[in-house]
Amino acid sequence: MLIGIGFLTTVITACLGIAMLRIVEPGPNERTLTIHGLYDEAGHLLTALVLAVGLRALQLPIPIWSVLAGGILLDVGHILIQLDFSEPITGSSRNGTHSLVIVAVVACAGFIDQRRANLWLGFALGALSHLWRDMGTGSVPLLWPISDQVWATSFTRYLLGLLAMALVMVGSGTLIAIHEHASRSHNRESA
Ligand SMILES: [Zn+2]
Repeated sequence: MLIGIGFLTTVITACLGIAMLRIVEPGPNERTLTIHGLYDEAGHLLTALVLAVGLRALQLPIPIWSVLAGGILLDVGHILIQLDFSEPITGSSRNGTHSLVIVAVVACAGFIDQRRANLWLGFALGALSHLWRDMGTGSVPLLWPISDQVWATSFTRYLLGLLAMALVMVGSGTLIAIHEHASRSHNRESA
């Protein structure tokens, strides 16, 4: 139960942090690309942290660092665009790296590198959180290379959706932990 409160506090603090970043970030005319990048990556790390805490609450053996790394992995795409190796998809500032297909490829690496399948899952889930945030702050070509269509939602929906998902995960994990604790005490008493 106490652990559940720790998870809950981390989730709420991280979500407040995401909202704060949005409020304090200088407007598009007052910031350089680097400044925007720093705010954006901080937002991605906090988003991935919220998901990682939810996974931890569910007692899944996925290291938090792998989800955080996955949370910023796809922005290699921005570096490729800056270096002129790649072009953004029409209607978006992102290229094909920001696609569910790429996330699926990352996840599938776990079928090959089986001993580290949990890490590949962490990278893939972190990358999924990245796409969700980018849909809240812009648009992403979710189905590239099958389709060039770009997908978006609002910042409010992104943040509330993230919070709701984490609350469901932490709540579920806490109930399972309570169940296990109660079953253990029951078994001990009846032994
Ligand atoms: Zn991105």
